[in-house]
Amino acid sequence: MHFEPNSGDGAFRAEVREFIRQHLPPDMARRSYICSQPPDIEDFRRWQGILHDRGWGAPHWPLEYGGTDWTAMQRHIFMEEIYRADAIDYGWQGTHMIGPVLIAFGSQAQKKRFLPPMLRGEEIWCQGFSEPNAGSDLASLRTRAELVGDEWVIHGQKIWTSDASEADWGFFLVRTDPEAKPQRGISMLLVPMNAAGIRIRPIEALNGGRDLNEVFLDGVRVPCENLVGEPGKGWTYAKYLLEKERTASAYLYRNKRELEKAKQIARAEHTAGMRLIDTPEFARKIARVEADLLALEWSVLRILAGEKNLHDADAVVSALKIRGSEMQQRVAELQLDALGPRALRVFDQQDRSAEVIEGTPLWPSYVPGRLGQFLYARAATLYGGTREVQKNIIARRAFGL
Ligand SMILES: Cc1cc2nc3c(=O)[nH]c(=O)nc-3n(C[C@H](O)[C@H](O)[C@H](O)COP(=O)(O)OP(=O)(O)OC[C@H]3O[C@@H](n4cnc5c(N)ncnc54)[C@H](O)[C@@H]3O)c2cc1C
Repeated sequence: MHFEPNSGDGAFRAEVREFIRQHLPPDMARRSYICSQPPDIEDFRRWQGILHDRGWGAPHWPLEYGGTDWTAMQRHIFMEEIYRADAIDYGWQGTHMIGPVLIAFGSQAQKKRFLPPMLRGEEIWCQGFSEPNAGSDLASLRTRAELVGDEWVIHGQKIWTSDASEADWGFFLVRTDPEAKPQRGISMLLVPMNAAGIRIRPIEALNGGRDLNEVFLDGVRVPCENLVGEPGKGWTYAKYLLEKERTASAYLYRNKRELEKAKQIARAEHTAGMRLIDTPEFARKIARVEADLLALEWSVLRILAGEKNLHDADAVVSALKIRGSEMQQRVAELQLDALGPRALRVFDQQDRSAEVIEGTPLWPSYVPGRLGQFLYARAATLYGGTREVQKNIIARRAFGL
């Protein structure tokens, strides 16, 4: 592999680091340290605005839409610095998901209307794909939309819709042609989340978070120009969206940062008169996770370097997804392991106020949030496609089974 940082990359890293140091509000960083996922929506809006003002709102977008012309290495460095500083990772459903789809397939009017506020963090997006009985088997989704005059009328139900109650807009997969083959009858619609006929019911998560929701659509009307691209092509756009950021599914930067936190805890905690990190047993545990994370990092770098002769793209994404999500769980376990009984401190994920997150000698500042993050990480092998389904893809695409 040839993936050497070039001489400018050091200066670039210093520039990004300095910008974050100067502009990231410390209270925001503290909240993000505690609960990096899901981020606080108000913090996300503010931070996205700050990045946008610097021209870094969506570095992976083409320059003409407000992105950057950074190299893959620069984007990699940027993300490392974002996580290293406990800044907020930029808008998943917005700039990462629907943004690139609109850039590739949206109408001029849609690009003009939706991309700028997305970039500025002024409009939050949610992703309405999953349904009861249509999660892994997304092609069997039943929410339907019918063209009546110049409006789409939508009936159905979505589930596990992250941030639906905070979102301004959602991109929804709907069945527009019940006669066509399952994948071909699906379209993608842009839906304002305050439209008449939408009802949102929160689902409380294992960690007490309330970002997940059921969304009921009862005769919701959207104008026909809210269709993305062509009718019946929703499946193609959804696949494009899920494959766009191939390396993101490794959660590399999050995993590196969370491992750092585990080490920080192990340096501060003591057992039998020595630092936990100096005990052979715990040092071994850290080394095992660190070695696997390094292997994951090299896999990501091979992709960023555009190395030839890699396996089929779908199989690679699936392999990264499995490793990256399992690493999230292992690193979270390591943190809890290091904390011992202190890990049992329950921290209300909703209450991110300063008093709650302040440390005391008994409950040092690295304690709050760790249990919540551990519980949230249990979902990592589910969302974005379950581990079993990813293994099926690898079996089929990489090994032809
Ligand atoms: C925290 C979180 C956030 C989410 N956010 C969103 C969101 O914003 N928008 C959205 O649309 N969705 C979202 N989801 C939904 C997520 O994409 C689905 O949960 C996921 O695709 C799995 O679908 P399911 O829950 O219906 O499980 P099912 O598909 O019913 O699967 C149940 C079990 O059966 C296994 N299984 C299913 N099919 C196969 C097979 N062919 N071979 C082997 N095993 C199989 C699965 O691996 C799993 O263990 C989110 C989920 C979580 C947990």
